[in-house]
Amino acid sequence: MRKRVLIVGGGTAGWLTAGYLAKRLGADLADGVAITLVESRDIGVLGVGEGTFPTIRRTLATIGVDEAELVRRCGATFKQGARFVHWQRAPGTPGRDHYMHPFQVAEAPGGLELLPYWLSGAAGDAEWDEVSTPQKAAADAARAPKLPTHPDYLGPLNYAFHFDAVALAGLLRERAVANGVTHLIDTVTHVALADSGAIERVDTERHGTLTADLYVDCTGFRAELIGKAMGVPFRSCRDVLFCDRALAAQLPYETADAPIASQTISTAQEAGWIWDIGLDRRRGIGHVYSSNHSDDTAAERALRRYLGPRGKQAEVRRFRFEAGFREVNWRRNCVAVGLSSGFFEPLEATGIAFAEVSAAMIANLFPWSGDHETSARQFNANLLRRYERALDFIKLHYCLSERRDTDFWRDNVADTSNTASLLELLDRWRHRWPNELDIDPQVDIFTEASWQYVLYGMGWRTDLSARAGALRYRDDARRAFGEVRRQVGVALANLPTHRALVEAAQRRG
Ligand code: FAD
Repeated sequence: MRKRVLIVGGGTAGWLTAGYLAKRLGADLADGVAITLVESRDIGVLGVGEGTFPTIRRTLATIGVDEAELVRRCGATFKQGARFVHWQRAPGTPGRDHYMHPFQVAEAPGGLELLPYWLSGAAGDAEWDEVSTPQKAAADAARAPKLPTHPDYLGPLNYAFHFDAVALAGLLRERAVANGVTHLIDTVTHVALADSGAIERVDTERHGTLTADLYVDCTGFRAELIGKAMGVPFRSCRDVLFCDRALAAQLPYETADAPIASQTISTAQEAGWIWDIGLDRRRGIGHVYSSNHSDDTAAERALRRYLGPRGKQAEVRRFRFEAGFREVNWRRNCVAVGLSSGFFEPLEATGIAFAEVSAAMIANLFPWSGDHETSARQFNANLLRRYERALDFIKLHYCLSERRDTDFWRDNVADTSNTASLLELLDRWRHRWPNELDIDPQVDIFTEASWQYVLYGMGWRTDLSARAGALRYRDDARRAFGEVRRQVGVALANLPTHRALVEAAQRRG
């Protein structure tokens, strides 16, 4: 008999998982897995989640979404990384006011590692994000990461997307259904457990009882299956990541040909930060903040100040959340994906990235033989480490700040709000730079390049004086830094504007 998967929830996580599993587990094949997704019409989707990580390209390609169609249908634009403004220093303080976490990794001829040479001054006063790749210069000039003639999901500069999350869920739904997923619109009213603790069935308002071999909880923060029915606890990380509220608004461009930013702009505030994401016809702007350090009125005032006079009438949506995750995400025959599994503030777009990882792991560990426990053990151990590592990476953006202007920043830099594992990493990096030994590719979403960009963007200095004499390729490194400067010129001369790439893709899609 065919194995059956029931996905409860039709937000980004639900449809992404459905579309992905449909392809990987053969939902349209007689001997493949039968996949049903049930979503409630009465319980809305979150509908935010506009920034992604480069892994999304492979996920979308697997699901069968074309890049041009994504751009046309979902207002999608090309994201080359994130620009962090006022994270290191408060406004009005002398010194650099921003840095970038680009997606492009530094590459020098002959595999020479440039970072130690930059650390020991071979690039003069230039910052690491400027001399390691031409991507910052391209993104700052609102250039595209590729030409319209490059193939789908490939380009000379690494990229992800920004998109309208509601439109994306619609496109993914279409693909998933075309790939064999059965779609039910209904509300799950009860989840019944067997004596073993496994889910026996779910009851719905209109389709009666539904049963499956594997239940996927994509019900968002409600966590109807894994949380409410199975009682799997949630581990709060609020003592590390303080933000627990968000306000989101939309702002149309002033003119139809206004430049579109090709990076998420994240501007630190007194008690949080504001995201600014350029889609094709509008910007999505939101304020993420800590309710322990601010209140809703002050937070909205800061958002409206950022939006400016044109945002006076903008409608503001409100969200509450708690940073954290479940240590067990696969119990018996139930696995959680998306917000039901965990959530960190959207600083590095980890929400959708975690849903991608979880969907891929479910496909790889699918219990064809019926042995859920073996799959669950591996899934849980892996995801737990991923959450812990991502938590440290997000906290890294805060803990090195020189800001002391508010309690939010003072509390963020206090050792008591940092994890022991992050303090241990920082200890390592006093005298050596982050390298591949600090990274486990099986659990780290962020590579050593990402850690380096944030660490040095926030002004950390690794002292290499003891080994300065062993850095023998200084001249090669200087030439390589010169080569990056040359590439900046080539990129600015040849890459189209970001808007031109988006419009070319819209015409194709
Ligand atoms: P939801 O969107 O909440 O969907 C839940 C689904 O479950 C709905 O379809 C609902 O109808 C259904 N449901 C619930 N209960 C039942 C029931 N009883 N019966 C049937 N159906 C039910 N992530 C990023 O990667 N990048 C970002 O830039 C980003 N920005 C964010 C900004 C904010 C302010 C917040 C709060 C989150 C952000 N995220 C971001 C996270 C991202 O929004 C989520 O990861 C993503 O939307 C997935 O949500 P979901 O599908 O898990 O849940």
